[in-house]
Amino acid sequence: MEAVQNEKGDATRGQISIHTENIFPIIKKFLYSDHEIFLRELVSNAVDATQKLRQLASFGEFGGELGELKVTVALNEEAKTITISDNGIGMTAEEIKKYINQIAFSGASDFLEKYKDKTDDKGQIIGHFGLGFYSAFMVAEKVEIVTRSYRDEAEAARWVCDGSTEFELTPADRTERGTDVILHIAPDSEEFLDKSRLRGILDKYARFLPVPIEFDGQTINNTTPIWTKAPSDLTDEDYKTFYRELYPMSEEPLFWIHLNVDYPFNLTGILYFPRIKNELRFQREKIQLYSRQVFITDEVKDVVPDFLMMLHGVIDSPDIPLNVSRSFLQADANVKKINGYITRKVADKLNDLFNADRKAFEEKFDDIGLFIKYGILSDDKFYEKAKNFVLLKNTEGAYSTLDEYREKVQANQTDKNETLVLLYTTDRKQQDAYIASAVRRGYDVLLMDNVIDPHFINALEYKLEKVHFVRVDADTLDKLIDKGLNNESVLSEADRTKLKEVFEQVLDNKTLTVSVEAQPTDELPVTITLPEFLRRMKDMSALSGEQSFYGNMPVGYNVVVNANHPLIGRILTETDADAQKSLVMQVYDLALLAQNMLTGADLTAFVRRTVERLS
Ligand code: ADP
Repeated sequence: MEAVQNEKGDATRGQISIHTENIFPIIKKFLYSDHEIFLRELVSNAVDATQKLRQLASFGEFGGELGELKVTVALNEEAKTITISDNGIGMTAEEIKKYINQIAFSGASDFLEKYKDKTDDKGQIIGHFGLGFYSAFMVAEKVEIVTRSYRDEAEAARWVCDGSTEFELTPADRTERGTDVILHIAPDSEEFLDKSRLRGILDKYARFLPVPIEFDGQTINNTTPIWTKAPSDLTDEDYKTFYRELYPMSEEPLFWIHLNVDYPFNLTGILYFPRIKNELRFQREKIQLYSRQVFITDEVKDVVPDFLMMLHGVIDSPDIPLNVSRSFLQADANVKKINGYITRKVADKLNDLFNADRKAFEEKFDDIGLFIKYGILSDDKFYEKAKNFVLLKNTEGAYSTLDEYREKVQANQTDKNETLVLLYTTDRKQQDAYIASAVRRGYDVLLMDNVIDPHFINALEYKLEKVHFVRVDADTLDKLIDKGLNNESVLSEADRTKLKEVFEQVLDNKTLTVSVEAQPTDELPVTITLPEFLRRMKDMSALSGEQSFYGNMPVGYNVVVNANHPLIGRILTETDADAQKSLVMQVYDLALLAQNMLTGADLTAFVRRTVERLS
């Protein structure tokens, strides 16, 4: 160690003792995609320095003038420097040795020791490491600190380091309390010597810092974002205004939850429920994660449960480890507790809304149903609460809870095996003929036209006992809700066999299954049905977007001939082969029409044939 004198007294030139000879190239490489966080780290340090001073003042350990505590970021394009200044506690030369040379360096090398082998799925370290002061060397070839401690007797000090492990520490001229960190930007990082780029980075990370941040003559932050305030001090308008501040381009939220917990972990935040409607779409607006008002990330994947990512807003917690890799985060006990807490709060809020104003809740349900159902699918604890307020909507627009619905249809829709059969439609228009038949028999039909409903139906069948869902067109009503009452057939067994053969011959299609059944005469002569199980598998595989066994199966459907219908009787007794064929085609096409399946040339042929028959 070589000592250098200057006119103000002692000066030190020294070697920083760390295990790794030259850690900076490694830091640069690791954090390649995230270089901009140098600014977050240095600005946070500056904010901490001012807050520490405020604290000392409140303990009576600082008697001087606090003045207006603030942080300034200055850009000098000519000198190629970025300077982060604060009027906080400052450092003495001894403190620089201790905090910068020892703590910050060892922090950086510790980090590298720990995480150099840890990578996420993409083969890259993800996240933010809190590398602190030394992240400056990701963008600077030389870093200077000029600082003066708040202590009366303190002398100003200047520290310079060029990114090697050598530093220079000399007395300085500074008279004001506080610290300047001057970054001499490296040639490969000159992109940061751009006003709008810096402004953008500050807007991202410093937007809600608790101390004014000045840049280019302006204060760029809101120092008291509403999540730091007590809910009782806030109005609905405050919440809406803050939402607009976060997401200027978005529709107004439906409602929100103010999170506030300090044991067993610290967490505050506001979660907004947006109108989600019927889309599992890519979320443009994301939940933002903060740590003591410092923006960390909007990739909250492991911090909040998947289904809650549909919400918007902010979460602020100093207890979420920020300096670790993704796999570590998933295993972290605090993160698990936070997950559970948020899930519970969200469920409680929905329950409160439901109990407080059922009508208003129903009005919102189309907008939040997708979210609630997603929650039910993905989280058993959420289901335990949500089962009381998740709503089923029928084709008439009436909403019922699960219990209410059971109560409502139980008497009429229980089959001979004591299974409750719930009828649903995925497309009110397309399945109208089937809905009408069901309603004629006093059955209720649920509207299940949300993208998530196929999964929701599966989940309910799994969770509820002896409940089975069937789409209205999955079979004839007598089979869908089989009460063990057989309709008398007006045709003999032999006639029915003959009819089946006639239909099979005329339709001449191997993917169709023809059956002849005795149905009430007010049902159609022929009905097309799509077996529930196969159709569901196809729907699900279409939803998941994957090619699969079921996805590739042909659309085989059933042709059910109503043995009791007079028209069918006529087909049987028709002796002219052409006339018989024409009649079969006619009733078959009518069935296709009722299912919205008659298109193209087949539709044209049907229209011609009908016109001829009528003329
Ligand atoms: P951390 O902030 O996580 O402790 P850093 O490497 O960022 O780690 O900083 C190391 C230490 O240097 C800080 O704890 C603080 O004591 C000191 N320090 C850094 N920047 C400033 C500043 N602007 N004013 C006063 N002290 C500072």
